[in-house]
Amino acid sequence: MEGERGCVFCDIVAGKAEAYKIYEDELSICILDVHPYTKGHCLVIAKRHVQWWHELSDEENASLFKVAKVVANRMMDKFEPDFIFLYARGRRIPPPSFIDSDLQR
Ligand SMILES: [Zn+2]
Repeated sequence: MEGERGCVFCDIVAGKAEAYKIYEDELSICILDVHPYTKGHCLVIAKRHVQWWHELSDEENASLFKVAKVVANRMMDKFEPDFIFLYARGRRIPPPSFIDSDLQR
Protein backbone atom coordinates (compact mmCIF):
# COMPACT_ATOMS: atom_id res chain seq x y z
CA MET A 1 0.00 0.00 0.00
CA GLU A 2 1.47 3.36 -1.03
CA GLY A 3 1.50 5.76 1.91
CA GLU A 4 1.84 9.49 2.40
CA ARG A 5 5.46 10.72 2.46
CA GLY A 6 6.73 11.67 5.87
CA CYS A 7 3.83 10.02 7.67
CA VAL A 8 5.05 7.68 10.40
CA PHE A 9 1.73 5.83 10.44
CA CYS A 10 1.98 5.06 6.73
CA ASP A 11 5.53 3.84 7.37
CA ILE A 12 4.24 1.59 10.16
CA VAL A 13 1.49 0.21 7.90
CA ALA A 14 4.10 -0.43 5.19
CA GLY A 15 6.44 -2.13 7.68
CA LYS A 16 9.09 0.58 7.26
CA ALA A 17 8.83 1.91 10.82
CA GLU A 18 8.78 0.07 14.13
CA ALA A 19 5.63 -0.24 16.17
CA TYR A 20 4.18 -2.68 18.65
CA LYS A 21 1.34 -4.11 16.64
CA ILE A 22 -1.53 -5.48 18.68
CA TYR A 23 -4.01 -6.47 16.02
CA GLU A 24 -4.92 -5.68 12.43
CA ASP A 25 -7.39 -6.53 9.75
CA GLU A 26 -7.33 -5.72 6.05
CA LEU A 27 -8.20 -2.03 6.55
CA SER A 28 -7.06 -1.02 10.03
CA ILE A 29 -4.22 -1.60 12.44
CA CYS A 30 -3.96 -1.26 16.22
CA ILE A 31 -0.62 -0.28 17.77
CA LEU A 32 0.55 0.82 21.20
CA ASP A 33 0.87 4.58 21.54
CA VAL A 34 4.52 5.65 21.93
CA HIS A 35 3.42 8.32 24.40
CA PRO A 36 0.77 6.53 26.43
CA TYR A 37 -1.10 8.55 29.00
CA THR A 38 -2.86 5.53 30.42
CA LYS A 39 -1.92 1.88 30.73
CA GLY A 40 -2.89 0.12 27.53
CA HIS A 41 -3.24 3.31 25.51
CA CYS A 42 -3.29 2.25 21.90
CA LEU A 43 -4.21 3.65 18.53
CA VAL A 44 -6.48 2.16 15.93
CA ILE A 45 -5.53 3.62 12.59
CA ALA A 46 -6.97 3.26 9.12
CA LYS A 47 -4.34 1.80 6.80
CA ARG A 48 -5.23 4.21 4.02
CA HIS A 49 -4.00 7.74 4.65
CA VAL A 50 -6.71 10.38 4.45
CA GLN A 51 -6.82 13.82 5.98
CA TRP A 52 -10.13 13.44 7.81
CA TRP A 53 -11.95 10.44 9.20
CA HIS A 54 -15.08 11.19 7.19
CA GLU A 55 -13.11 10.66 4.01
CA LEU A 56 -12.83 6.98 4.88
CA SER A 57 -15.20 4.54 3.25
CA ASP A 58 -18.02 2.96 5.24
CA GLU A 59 -15.99 -0.26 5.25
CA GLU A 60 -12.92 1.51 6.62
CA ASN A 61 -14.93 3.23 9.35
CA ALA A 62 -16.59 -0.07 10.26
CA SER A 63 -13.16 -1.71 10.37
CA LEU A 64 -11.85 0.91 12.84
CA PHE A 65 -14.62 0.09 15.28
CA LYS A 66 -14.34 -3.65 14.70
CA VAL A 67 -10.61 -3.63 15.42
CA ALA A 68 -11.12 -1.38 18.47
CA LYS A 69 -13.74 -3.81 19.78
CA VAL A 70 -11.53 -6.88 19.31
CA VAL A 71 -8.69 -5.16 21.18
CA ALA A 72 -11.02 -3.87 23.91
CA ASN A 73 -12.43 -7.36 24.49
CA ARG A 74 -8.92 -8.80 24.72
CA MET A 75 -7.96 -6.11 27.23
CA MET A 76 -11.08 -6.83 29.27
CA ASP A 77 -10.20 -10.55 29.37
CA LYS A 78 -6.53 -10.03 30.10
CA PHE A 79 -6.43 -7.06 32.47
CA GLU A 80 -9.99 -6.99 33.82
CA PRO A 81 -10.22 -3.20 34.03
CA ASP A 82 -13.41 -1.46 35.11
CA PHE A 83 -13.93 -0.22 31.58
CA ILE A 84 -12.17 0.73 28.38
CA PHE A 85 -12.99 3.96 26.68
CA LEU A 86 -12.59 4.96 23.11
CA TYR A 87 -12.44 8.31 21.45
CA ALA A 88 -11.77 9.70 18.02
CA ARG A 89 -9.21 12.34 17.30
CA GLY A 90 -8.52 14.42 14.30
CA ARG A 91 -5.91 17.10 14.60
CA ARG A 92 -2.82 16.31 16.65
CA ILE A 93 -1.07 14.01 14.21
CA PRO A 94 -1.04 14.22 10.37
CA PRO A 95 -3.26 11.24 9.52
CA PRO A 96 -6.12 12.36 11.68
CA SER A 97 -8.29 9.35 11.00
CA PHE A 98 -7.75 7.21 14.02
CA ILE A 99 -9.36 6.13 17.21
CA ASP A 100 -7.68 5.57 20.52
CA SER A 101 -8.77 3.03 23.01
CA ASP A 102 -7.57 3.39 26.56
CA LEU A 103 -7.47 1.00 29.39
CA GLN A 104 -8.59 2.57 32.67
CA ARG A 105 -7.85 0.93 35.97
ZN1 LIG B 1 -0.32 8.22 6.76
